[in-house]
Amino acid sequence: MIDIKFSINTLGCKTNLSESDYIIKELSDRGFKLVKYSDGPDFCIINTCTVTSQSDRKVRQIVRRIKSNSPLSTVIVTGCYAVFNEKFLLDSGVDCIVKNKDKYSIPSVLEELARRRWNAKTGLAASSGNKKFQNLVHSRALVKIQDGCEQNCSYCIIPKVRGGYRSTPDELVLAQIRNLAAAGFDEVVLTGIHIGKYAADINAETCSGDRNASDLADLLEKIIESSSIKRIRLGSIEISEVDSRITDLIRESGRIAPHLHIPLQSGSDKILELMKRPYSSGYFLNMVESIKKSVPDIAITTDVIVGFPHESEEDFIQTVDLIKKVSFSKLHVFKYSRRMHTEAYSMGGQVAESVKSERSKFLREIGSKLRNDYIRNGVGKFFKVVTEKVDKEKRIAAGTSENYVKVYFPLDCSNAEILKKGKLVEVKIESVYEDGLIGKMHKTWRDAGTCAFVVKI
Ligand code: SF4
Repeated sequence: MIDIKFSINTLGCKTNLSESDYIIKELSDRGFKLVKYSDGPDFCIINTCTVTSQSDRKVRQIVRRIKSNSPLSTVIVTGCYAVFNEKFLLDSGVDCIVKNKDKYSIPSVLEELARRRWNAKTGLAASSGNKKFQNLVHSRALVKIQDGCEQNCSYCIIPKVRGGYRSTPDELVLAQIRNLAAAGFDEVVLTGIHIGKYAADINAETCSGDRNASDLADLLEKIIESSSIKRIRLGSIEISEVDSRITDLIRESGRIAPHLHIPLQSGSDKILELMKRPYSSGYFLNMVESIKKSVPDIAITTDVIVGFPHESEEDFIQTVDLIKKVSFSKLHVFKYSRRMHTEAYSMGGQVAESVKSERSKFLREIGSKLRNDYIRNGVGKFFKVVTEKVDKEKRIAAGTSENYVKVYFPLDCSNAEILKKGKLVEVKIESVYEDGLIGKMHKTWRDAGTCAFVVKI
């Protein structure tokens, strides 16, 4: 084993996180050791985001911090921020900028660099079995099924920095999920920039007609049929792409988490049109109602942007009304952030920062009330929770339930030794606790309905 250390800092979305996970496992497989950037690694990788001006600010901060903390490290920057900000990065002393599309070559490039620099002759471990998953940072493993977006919402820089639709072939997705299941992960999260367009590029290349076309629902069916993964969670998905095949699979398979994150962005038709979002508020509401009819216990979470150009008080009130009608179980509120290279950047009617802040505060309060009501509703129920943190000293574990609630449960002598991160357990909820719920672990969730052991409660 060579003694080469690397750190990785990841900003932004789950797609970035899953790409960083890939880099981590590939480098770990090659014998590199993952450390914190403050531990003076040989290589510091920064996987950046540029979705808002706040994301840009965070990238600049971390670049400066790493350069001053680890002056001897080779600093490699990749991700969306790197597309339009090369000058800042080079002026800051970054050693290498890697384009988004070349991100997956980072492990082999670093291996080659390390080989040359340290003249390492042995110990570059070949990849083997499940070992490569040992260093994954997430207990709910992220599987990237897709990249790119062609929707061109008027506020969004992502299509310019990520490019068009590119799907991971289904056999690769399946192989990855089978390996993760064999390595002990019970939940996978399917991530991408626009997962509802899964296979759109493959269909465009391979079929002239519809006969061979495939889509996200097909992929889900294949995962359910040919892997033993216990739970599949979908990343963010557009409202028009949640079809009845997907909701039927959620309801009938029992293996897809009943949780959809569907970005609303605005409840005003005027603003949705200016944003170039391909739906109206009425369509959104009807679709949500039919999703809830099909899967009654489903959790629906969302993103909303406040202060988009031309957003009047009336538009904002329409957003508030729609949010209340849908009764989302979680709300992410973003203040509109002007991004160069987007259509909305040069729109008139920009909203004052103070108004954006007021509206965002108001919506966050509504969001936290909806969240608290939703969480409280879980008391007395049984949830299947993926264990993410096990604190043996404080004798408590925590994880995420199928409907995306943080659940805590005490460790006792019967479960403390067997509990593993990434495993599903069943918890009987007793009360609200911190940012979620607390209860007692009932049984591990093995094959549907079978309990591997029962803890007395
Ligand atoms: S769907 Fe719209 S908001 Fe989402 S990545 Fe594509 S352009 Fe951006």
